[in-house]
Amino acid sequence: MIVVTGGAGFIGSHIVDKLSESNEIIVIDNLSSGKEEFVSKSAKLVKADLASDDIEDYLRGAEEVWHIAANPDVRIGAENPEEIYRNNILATYRLLEAMRKAGIERIIFTSTSTVYGEASIIPTPEDYPPHPISLYGASKLACEALIESYCHTFDMQAWIYRFANVIGRRSTHGVIYDFIMKLNRNPEELEILGNGEQNKSYIYITDCIEAMLAGLGSDERVNIFNIGSEDQVKVRRIAEIVSEELGLSPRFRFTGGDRGWKGDVPVMLLSIEKLKKLGWRPRYSSEEAVRMAVRDLIEDLNKQN
Ligand code: NAD
Repeated sequence: MIVVTGGAGFIGSHIVDKLSESNEIIVIDNLSSGKEEFVSKSAKLVKADLASDDIEDYLRGAEEVWHIAANPDVRIGAENPEEIYRNNILATYRLLEAMRKAGIERIIFTSTSTVYGEASIIPTPEDYPPHPISLYGASKLACEALIESYCHTFDMQAWIYRFANVIGRRSTHGVIYDFIMKLNRNPEELEILGNGEQNKSYIYITDCIEAMLAGLGSDERVNIFNIGSEDQVKVRRIAEIVSEELGLSPRFRFTGGDRGWKGDVPVMLLSIEKLKKLGWRPRYSSEEAVRMAVRDLIEDLNKQN
């Protein structure tokens, strides 16, 4: 049996789809952004909050925990630091404690490229010194440190994955989702945060899941891998692709400045050489991933309407 926290969210539900092909799955999710209908029918959904509920009993007998639950919104940190602390740091600490008490030794954790902050080495390798500039990045780095210290203190083993922007079906946040929502409200004009020159790496969800599974082939006490595509795409280009796919020609209105919000890292590309040595490589470029994800989200939204 495998426990997946955040298994009702975007990335978590795709992980559950994959793992449930050959495992019994328990999903723990408070459904704050996740949706019950995203969870595979073959998995058991426990509605619980990692930051406040007792979850130890649900973990007993699990082979491993995939800890995906978090507040993934980088922008929230500047408005509501407590939200980031609670759902990321406190939730992870409480999960680790529950795992220790239930005797569960393996954890797979979704971290982020934002732990590096504004890196001067691009593509950024895993051993680059992390200096996050957002509360979100800081919270994930704190989680990594907690996980690593639990591994050494309580003989646990961890796989920590630092993601670029992950995109695809069921995503409910991020630049593509925002652009589609804005154009649904006003097809004439699209507001673009920053100057549109922000240049980042995007990875399609199926590539991301395959990468996580490939990383399990590494057997250190703590295994840290970047996961991303090998190129970047600018925000302005994403706006063009979203507009094209919706059949619209909106005016672009830039809010200005080199970044979208406080804590945004304008240039991001991760070195994925470490994971490629295990035989994995992404199938799609950033631009291909963006176009596929735009089509997915438009289809998702059309189904809802
Ligand atoms: P998401 O919001 O779709 O999924 C997060 C899930 O966690 C949701 O189902 C939510 O209901 C649940 N959750 C949140 N707080 C909880 C709590 N206190 N207790 C129980 N459940 C809780 O986000 P996502 O994009 O699928 O992100 C999944 C993970 O990947 C997160 O840890 C995120 O930080 C990380 N990540 C995502 C990206 C990305 O581009 N999407 C990039 C880097 C890292």
